[in-house]
Amino acid sequence: MEFDSCGILLTENCNARCKMCCDSRGMVRGKTLSQEELDQILQNIKECGTITLVGVTGGEPMLYPELVEHILNYDFGRPMRFTIKTNGFWGKDTAKARKFLEKYKEKWKKIKYPLQVTSPLFTHLFCGYFLQLPAAKEQKSNGSLGGGTCE
Ligand code: SF4
Repeated sequence: MEFDSCGILLTENCNARCKMCCDSRGMVRGKTLSQEELDQILQNIKECGTITLVGVTGGEPMLYPELVEHILNYDFGRPMRFTIKTNGFWGKDTAKARKFLEKYKEKWKKIKYPLQVTSPLFTHLFCGYFLQLPAAKEQKSNGSLGGGTCE
């Protein structure tokens, strides 16, 4: 069997308390991958030459932006796209958030967020901005945009 995508559960920790969270994230302090563990996973993905899409999830992965950037900047030896599941807390500093999104604009495929914790401000700023990026324009044209997701 050939895999074309995979997910990295970067951390079990979260700063939100969504009732519908399937893993009660935010209620416990859990495990976060070390850089060494992450490098082992990234190397495995690199060696699995068919994977071209990596989903970063948690918990709240943006509690550890340096690890998220480590994933985005890793040399997989081929073009890769990324998704991230986030509650958007980091969007409070809009200038910094835009800079981060812009920096990796060619790499994003999707940003997913739980509606329960996401403010209209986040939706407006992030999705409004994200929809201008190349990946979103491409998917908007084929009708695959959906609620709860900036694609
Ligand atoms: S933001 Fe995500 S991981 Fe955190 S509590 Fe909500 S659903 Fe769970």
